[in-house]
Amino acid sequence: MTAALHTMKTPTTSAPAGAGWSARPRVSTPLPGPRSAELLARQEKRESNARTYPRHFPFAVAEASGSHIRDLDGNVFIDFLAGAGVLSLGHNHPELVAAATEQMSVFTHGLDMPTPAKDAFTDAQLSMLPASMRDRMKIQFCGPTGANAVDAAIKLCKTATGRGGLVSFQGGFHGSSHAAMALTGNVGQKRPIANGMPGVSFFPFSSCSRCPLALDPETCQTNCVSFLERALRDPNGGLELPAAVIMEMVQGEGGVIPARKEFVQRVRQLTRELGIPLIVDEVQTGCGRTGTWFAFEQYDIEPDVIVASKALSGMGLPVAIVIYAEELDTWAPGAHTGTFRGNQLAFAAGTKTVEIVQRDDVLGNVRARGEQVAARFAPLADHPAVLEVRGRGLMWGIELVAPGDGRTVTELAEEVQARALRSGLIVELGGRDDCVVRMLPPLNVTAEVLDIALSILLDAIDDAYASTAQAA
Ligand code: PMP
Repeated sequence: MTAALHTMKTPTTSAPAGAGWSARPRVSTPLPGPRSAELLARQEKRESNARTYPRHFPFAVAEASGSHIRDLDGNVFIDFLAGAGVLSLGHNHPELVAAATEQMSVFTHGLDMPTPAKDAFTDAQLSMLPASMRDRMKIQFCGPTGANAVDAAIKLCKTATGRGGLVSFQGGFHGSSHAAMALTGNVGQKRPIANGMPGVSFFPFSSCSRCPLALDPETCQTNCVSFLERALRDPNGGLELPAAVIMEMVQGEGGVIPARKEFVQRVRQLTRELGIPLIVDEVQTGCGRTGTWFAFEQYDIEPDVIVASKALSGMGLPVAIVIYAEELDTWAPGAHTGTFRGNQLAFAAGTKTVEIVQRDDVLGNVRARGEQVAARFAPLADHPAVLEVRGRGLMWGIELVAPGDGRTVTELAEEVQARALRSGLIVELGGRDDCVVRMLPPLNVTAEVLDIALSILLDAIDDAYASTAQAA
């Protein structure tokens, strides 16, 4: 831990941060409003068909502060997408802005040269590891996206083991590059792309509400993991030992599915016994999202490789890292090059983020606000269109289904999302057929803003359900 991380004592800065922003959202035009409509039309004409978010959030952004976003027509939304989980301290956190601005005139782009900004960031990141891991892990700066870090991690494990295969889990998401996509469960994303990366085997995740064997998680003895155990231990199991097993502790894009503890522990035990590096993808769960700095800490395991990116800078300045056990460091010099490995602004903001997270007990806020969400969502257990409410810390999902038969219903989730937006709340969809409504609020969200947002979401679910039930 650097000394700097302990020195400052200022009051908690929590979202919303800026003056002139009230906690309550306000939507006073149809969506999109006229000025947003102009930009959306220009965007549609000039930008790729691959664009995603404007299709569900039809507005153009003017500015943002803390947990709130203002569009060009003056509508204000509570932003519980938060840059896909990137803006852990909300939009434009003043101290992060100051840290990045100060660094801006010192040095900005540093390839992989050492700099004081990078050194402090490295100190900060390693200091957040469990004590038993701090001195035996190395950190690699790669291209500044989660997918690039996943790519680096699997290349490293292939290099270190000399093996080629990889094991991933059904429902998992690891990115949209060729290799990361090959590790991802979503078949629709892969279908149009011929010749994907070969050698990936998928095994069941502990996704109990959709257990393929319809077992009861309280009595099943986590049989889902025995498929992997059997495949790897049985001389007739069909699989050679892979270069790595990669997993999320909470599948995020897969629909906010926390792994069961015994599932993760058995995967860890198996991989350790067989000498298979375990990569934990903390791109979404990392940096405090689930109430501990890394989600794996809640599973009492130590992975061999950790991949992190999204919220590392706290404010969306791109940076990604791979943290791995030093005995895996078999890279040749220059083995995973990349021009953008030295974003000094991200390093400065990221060091400040760690300082603020510790100083303001942001993780305590994540846990307290998580309990607030759980309490408000508890009655949803009896809702006819809700299969399950799942979450850890400030990562939540509500899986919506057709009442009675459990079929996924994309339309209902889309209707909830659209109604919430019209009432001033931005939420994301995910999971199978996008039937899970997801929330990733800033980690310093206040109880007041959270309460307003939860009321909007619960009303949206009731109203959407009533309107689709009527239509049926
Ligand atoms: N891994 C996980 C778990 C993710 O959630 C994501 C992005 N949602 C990625 C990898 C890919 O990150 P990026 O979009 O920055 O490539």
